[in-house]
Amino acid sequence: MSLRQFLEGERSIDGQVTEVAEEVSADFEAPAVMKANDGGPVVVFRRIRGHRGVAVAGICGTRERIYRAIGAGPRDYYSKLIDAAANPVEPEEVASGPVTEVSCGADLGKIPVFRHYERDAGRYITSGIVVARSPNGRFQNASIHRLLVLGRDRLAIRLVPRHLYAMHQEAKSRGEDLQVAVVIGVHPALAVGANVGPKLGVDELGVGNALLGGGLKVVRCRRAGVAVPADAEIVLEGVIKADEVADEGPFVDLTGTYDIVRKQPVVQLTGMMMRGDAIYQAILPGGAEHKLLMGMPKEARMYDAVSKAVPDVRGVRLTLGGACWFHAAVSIRKQAEGDGKNAILAALGANPSVKHVVVVDEDVDVDDPAELEWAIATRFQGDSGIIKIRGARGSSLDPSSDQERILTAKVGIDATVPWGKPREKFEKAAMPKTAR
Ligand code: MN
Repeated sequence: MSLRQFLEGERSIDGQVTEVAEEVSADFEAPAVMKANDGGPVVVFRRIRGHRGVAVAGICGTRERIYRAIGAGPRDYYSKLIDAAANPVEPEEVASGPVTEVSCGADLGKIPVFRHYERDAGRYITSGIVVARSPNGRFQNASIHRLLVLGRDRLAIRLVPRHLYAMHQEAKSRGEDLQVAVVIGVHPALAVGANVGPKLGVDELGVGNALLGGGLKVVRCRRAGVAVPADAEIVLEGVIKADEVADEGPFVDLTGTYDIVRKQPVVQLTGMMMRGDAIYQAILPGGAEHKLLMGMPKEARMYDAVSKAVPDVRGVRLTLGGACWFHAAVSIRKQAEGDGKNAILAALGANPSVKHVVVVDEDVDVDDPAELEWAIATRFQGDSGIIKIRGARGSSLDPSSDQERILTAKVGIDATVPWGKPREKFEKAAMPKTAR
């Protein structure tokens, strides 16, 4: 149920974990190692200069590890995510746990927060699950936010207009600070659960618990009053100030480009809890883990939508090359001419951030960029297989779009076999079975 249990499981599989024994700096050096291993093994840093504990990175750095984290496969993870969001399982509250081992005043100097890119505003906590209690006390919310270190006990938090933003706005209108805890180092199913996007009022920790199959235990923070995973590595307690903002950014977003500087709310820390041998968890901004955690839950919603438009959907992927945000690949078993186009419309409609979608037949592997390109090369004609839409709602992250009004062009490519021609012209050549 914990980060370290998941890590031990990965160690039992060849090539999934790499150890860095030599001392590295939290400033740029550790992130450079993360970048070199991006999309590959989990990286365990044994020695971070000036710190005692161990740090890990890349926990959710591949699709396969995310599948293992939630106990699903490439074909059934959609339904697993949708079911978990619809049927969260309330965690069991207990009096204490590994994370309550050490309780002390807030001091961010005690944890090795990384500085990633040369123009970053400073050190950023990138794996923090921010758990907040609604101002009326009725529910709690859990979501991942980047957190810029401003000082020993202060952070700037990026709040995009979603649940935590709305909760902060409500607290602000009452003239209150919002109670929060920042949880660092938990089982990856909880990080996936925090990104699935259930409706407001649903505790994402319950969604993560459903992905785990139940059994999650939580402890109540003494200071912040929220319930956090009992086997977390580190928990920072504090409030999002009602009336204080600070410059936040530049920070590298999943495009791999710098996001702009904005005035964002300040988190004032009041204390922290941690394991005696706490493991710090880092996520590389713009790396595969960042992209996959953001993108995979969106695939589930797109799968659901495309399935309503065409009967037999084999796969929906937001590809890594498209930052798991802008490019979708959809594989269908075509049953009528025009299914490809309908799949395009459904995929584009289901996810405003998607700009380009390619639809392929069931014999094309959506996880293989070369196969997708092959389908475009051999099954697509640019004058008839394309759909273009101007001025649709897009993503604020795309520097090529109208970022003021968040409008973008959308393009769909129907790379399914056209039905007017003999199917065998398009079939992949096979070798006789006897040769295998
Ligand atoms: Mn929420």
